[in-house]
Amino acid sequence: MVPDYLATLIKSWKSQPRLKFLRLPLGACALSIIIGLGWYLVDDQVSNQDDDHESKGQSVKLIYEQDNTAKDNILTSASSKPPRAISWSSPLRKQCSGIDPNILLRLNLLQKKLINDRKDWPIHESNYGKRHHWDIYGRRLNTSPRLVILHETSGSLTSAYNTFKDNHPKDEWQVSYHTMISLDGKVADLVDPHLRAYGAGNSAFLGEWAVTNPRLTGSVNNFALHLSLETPWDGRHLGPSHSGYTQAQYDSLALVLSQWMHRFSIPAQNITTHQHVDLAGERSDPRSFSWKDLQIRLAALDHLCTRKGKLDKGKFR
Ligand SMILES: [Zn+2]
Repeated sequence: MVPDYLATLIKSWKSQPRLKFLRLPLGACALSIIIGLGWYLVDDQVSNQDDDHESKGQSVKLIYEQDNTAKDNILTSASSKPPRAISWSSPLRKQCSGIDPNILLRLNLLQKKLINDRKDWPIHESNYGKRHHWDIYGRRLNTSPRLVILHETSGSLTSAYNTFKDNHPKDEWQVSYHTMISLDGKVADLVDPHLRAYGAGNSAFLGEWAVTNPRLTGSVNNFALHLSLETPWDGRHLGPSHSGYTQAQYDSLALVLSQWMHRFSIPAQNITTHQHVDLAGERSDPRSFSWKDLQIRLAALDHLCTRKGKLDKGKFR
C-alpha cells in the first residue's frame, strides 16, 4: 500500500512533463532508500535481540561463577518446581493491653548495655555471601531481608562458632547464622544482615524460596535472617526437648528481633522456626521454644499492638 503523501507526489510528477526525464533515476533512488531503511530497521531489531540474549546470558554466567559451579550443571526438572505452600499461623498474637511495664524498663536498660557489649564475631568468608539479585532462571529477586528464622545451636555457642570459622569450600558444608545468643544473653553478630547467611538448606516459607545455586534446591536464605539460641546443657542430645532457654536469652532475643523488625519492616508474623521452613522434615529447632516468653517482650516493645504487613503470596520473590 502506498501512503497518501507518496501517491500525491507521484501524481504531481506525472502531471509535469518537464520532469519526465527525471522519473527513472528518482524512482531508482527512492527505491534504494526504502530498501536501505528496511534493512537497517530489521538489522537493528536483530542486534537488540542479540544484546538481550547476551546480557541475560552474562547474568546467568555471573550467578554460576558466584556459586563456583559448572555452567552445564543444571537443576533437574523435579527440583526446579516451586515448593508446596505450607501455611504458617504465628503463635504471636495481637496484644495492646496487659503489658508489664517492668519488662519494658528491664529491656530498655539491657538495650543500653548491649550498645557496648554486642560484638561482631568474624567467621570464615566461605560461610556467607552476598544476597543474589537473580535466580538461576534469570528472574529478579528481592534481596531485602523479610523473614526471621529461629534456630538453636545443638551444642555450645563456642563449638558452633568454631564451625563457622572453618573454611568450607563445598557449598553443601557452608553454614552460618547472622546472630547467636548465649545462655547468659550475650549477643554475637556473625554475619551482616545485608549479607546472606547459610542457615537453612532445602527450605521455603509460604511456598516461596530462591534457587540461586544450580547444584542445590531452593532455600529461604536469600531473603531470611537467621538467629540461633545456645542450647542448654540438658539439651545437647538428639531428643525432642530440653529445659528451654534462659530469661536472659529471651530478653536479648526480643531486642535483636525488635531492631531487625524496625530496620527492615518485618512484621511479627514473619518470625518463624527452622522446623517450619525445613522441607526435608529433618529439623526440629528451636526445641522447647516458648512463644509466650517472646510474646510478652515483643508486646512490651510495642510490636504486637497492630497487625501490620499482612503476608501475601509473591512477596517473597
Ligand atoms: Zn536450625
